[in-house]
Amino acid sequence: MKLYNTLTHQIEEFVPQNPDEVKIYTCGPTVYSYAHIGNFTSYTYWDLLIRVLRLNGYQEKRILNITDVGHLTSDADDGEDKMEKGARREGKTVWEVAQMYMDDFLENFHNLGLIEPAAICRATDFIEADKRLVEALDKAGYLYDTTDGLYFDTSKFPKYAEFARLDLENLRAGARVEFSDEKRNASDFVVWKWIRDGEDHAMQWEYRGRMGYPGWHLECSTIIHEQLGEPIDIHCGGVDHIPVHHTNEIAQSEGAFGKQMSKFWLHNNFITIDGQKISKSLGNVYYFSDLAEKGYSPMDYKMWLYQGHYQAERDFSFEQLAAAHARLMNYRNFAALRWQEIEKSDFAAERDEIMECLNSNLNSAGAFAVLDGVAKSGLAPSNEFLKFVDDAFGLEIGKTTPDISDELKQKIFERSAAKESKEYATADQLRDEILEQGIELLDSADGVKWALRIKNRVC
Ligand SMILES: [Zn+2]
Repeated sequence: MKLYNTLTHQIEEFVPQNPDEVKIYTCGPTVYSYAHIGNFTSYTYWDLLIRVLRLNGYQEKRILNITDVGHLTSDADDGEDKMEKGARREGKTVWEVAQMYMDDFLENFHNLGLIEPAAICRATDFIEADKRLVEALDKAGYLYDTTDGLYFDTSKFPKYAEFARLDLENLRAGARVEFSDEKRNASDFVVWKWIRDGEDHAMQWEYRGRMGYPGWHLECSTIIHEQLGEPIDIHCGGVDHIPVHHTNEIAQSEGAFGKQMSKFWLHNNFITIDGQKISKSLGNVYYFSDLAEKGYSPMDYKMWLYQGHYQAERDFSFEQLAAAHARLMNYRNFAALRWQEIEKSDFAAERDEIMECLNSNLNSAGAFAVLDGVAKSGLAPSNEFLKFVDDAFGLEIGKTTPDISDELKQKIFERSAAKESKEYATADQLRDEILEQGIELLDSADGVKWALRIKNRVC
């Protein structure tokens, strides 16, 4: 299995430290507003990673964090607190806001059919551990105190610029000291914020006899240390995390514990919508409810994402989503062939080809090209092959009979009743009416089953 490792800037063979417990950490959401479809790009791509690991015989231990601590709106250590902004907007407490949006996030996570992590850790449950990490960093000589907070001195961590290939000279020259003239280097960052006199902050904890709260990079280093232990096998996140958030996580963890933080770093790219960055002011922020209104499911969105590569920037449009939906329907219709009296196949060679694609840095697009060929073969899939496809992509291709209306179900019922009372003419007429609506009936030992009529397949 090969993966692109941001740490080494190349595709490498992935070998876990312990195949029975591959340690994976994914940077999770800040729960201060409803998550839009773009926010799920990362979690959906990393679900594919988990699935491919499992198909290779590995078992993962994966942790996802939920940022429910009040943090600042930018990567820089200033700006407005996101949680407090959300609370003001909703007329709720920050704790209520966190709970509400966390529930919404998890509901969408579930609707996308994403595999549950071993644990979902809320940042606010790790404050004591945060303080221990700050102590360790202080003891190792990385911190300095300012009126604003305890800062990490990046000049004391010589490999600070390595991970993101940062140009520190330029950073220094270009940096404006926006809020603290006590900051020694432009790249220094806060690990623990002090609440100053006259300042108010909804979430705060006592530390060193003063009130304050953790800097926003701290929780990931803390949770990884507490839940997994360094080094972990794979750390995942979005490309936007590379220059600041992940760079700072590495400085904190390796500074405090003297061990490599993660062996592999994987980063997904983002989606744009109709060629533009997702933003409220452009009115192109879509939620899964907007997709549902137009008749698309979370699975259609997942299909669309997997048609591309996790490292590529993708441009979303409803035309593209319609095409992904048609392709997914085609796969499901192919899956429905298993109820017909035609030859079944395990597609062993194609299965190997699909695995080869997925093992080449999660090339899902290549895997689908193979699956397209399988769907056109005229053979029916074995249950084993369908299980493999669903294990690989989690698109519920083999899972269900097609959804049909209550009216059609009633007709199917009437037709079965007619057949039982040997009214064959009525039964046949009902079957034809049902077929006209694109549904084919298949009588089997376990009763009547139905499938989309094969003529309707989109190829
Ligand atoms: Zn993180």
